[in-house]
Amino acid sequence: MSTKPEFVVPVPDVVSLPVAGTDARFPVRRIYCVGRNYLAHIRELGNDEKQPPLFFTKPRDAIVQDGATIPYAIATQDYHFELELAVALQSGGYNIVPEAAQSHIYGYAVALDMTRRDLQRQLTAKSAPWDVAKGFDHSCPCGPVFPASVVGHPDAGSIRLEVNGEARQDADLAQMIWDVPHIIAYLSQVFELAAGDLILTGTPAGVGPIKSGDTLVGSIAGLGTLTTHIGAAI
Ligand code: MN
Repeated sequence: MSTKPEFVVPVPDVVSLPVAGTDARFPVRRIYCVGRNYLAHIRELGNDEKQPPLFFTKPRDAIVQDGATIPYAIATQDYHFELELAVALQSGGYNIVPEAAQSHIYGYAVALDMTRRDLQRQLTAKSAPWDVAKGFDHSCPCGPVFPASVVGHPDAGSIRLEVNGEARQDADLAQMIWDVPHIIAYLSQVFELAAGDLILTGTPAGVGPIKSGDTLVGSIAGLGTLTTHIGAAI
């Protein structure tokens, strides 16, 4: 008896990211994102700094490789960048305490949480889910994963985005309200985390719209750069 299943439609590709400095790849299982996690951004919106973190997700096939050109997103007139530190897990579980969180981290990367801001505003006004605003095609460009065994666990340092060479976001990881261990602790209270999970940790102030022809270059101290070109609309 054959143990190899027969699939009735083509099997989706494994989604993965390069591991910096090697030929190996990091396979992506789930993409979690944190909303409202930088003081300047919260304060300008007048929100409570001590609210528990806000989580949403993106499908793993929203991943876009470094250097790629993505189309200007469909169904929006207000397509925004959000530059974020991404955390890549090597293991997981439920109810991880902050003190144990770093042991589950494989590494870190530079990522973009691309957002259809006009749709997000409409959905938020209706208290509706954000999937259409956040979880669309090409919405998660991500750079190579840098192993924590090489770069350590960055909790401070520059996070900066340039659009066509002009600085648009320029902040420091130390400005996060919920640091990475506490994000992992919170998230593991509502999901079972696992190897392959990516967690985007929120964006600093300065988010804004982009247009076809723009080039976005994000950088985080010690984690290299992420370059994304915005092509024509589909
Ligand atoms: Mn974000």
